[in-house]
Amino acid sequence: MKPPPPLVAYLLAAIFLGLGLVMLAWRKGPNWWIGVRLPWTFADRQLWDRSWNFAALFLVGMGVGALLSWTIFVISLIHLLILGILYPIYLYRRKYGTLKYWKGVARLDYRPVARCSRCGHHQRLPGAEGLVGARCQVCGMPLAPAR
Ligand SMILES: [Zn+2]
Repeated sequence: MKPPPPLVAYLLAAIFLGLGLVMLAWRKGPNWWIGVRLPWTFADRQLWDRSWNFAALFLVGMGVGALLSWTIFVISLIHLLILGILYPIYLYRRKYGTLKYWKGVARLDYRPVARCSRCGHHQRLPGAEGLVGARCQVCGMPLAPAR
């Protein structure tokens, strides 16, 4: 018979599974304590939710992996880093044409900046929804990415 996993495995499982399940059940908006807290996810609620879902999923995977197999654990961890963190940043870059953002006065008040694909002008947006219909203040080009 396989020996039971060491105590550290139970500990890791409790932490990651617990965190993952809380995130799956809770679905909280941008906040200071839990979630993929990056300026780019703070600036765009859609990206926040996407990275939240991926992170929750792969945290659960890490928790289960800690008990069953370290291969599952490592695969989940890699997916967490790529899909939960790097992918939202990539999506932000694709959506706004830049990784720049701007910050209001409040602690979590991060907002997107869009880069004009024609003249390269960087323009502050009031929020993620401000991208739709916005035009470059310099050349008049629509800022929303071409589809
Ligand atoms: Zn322009």
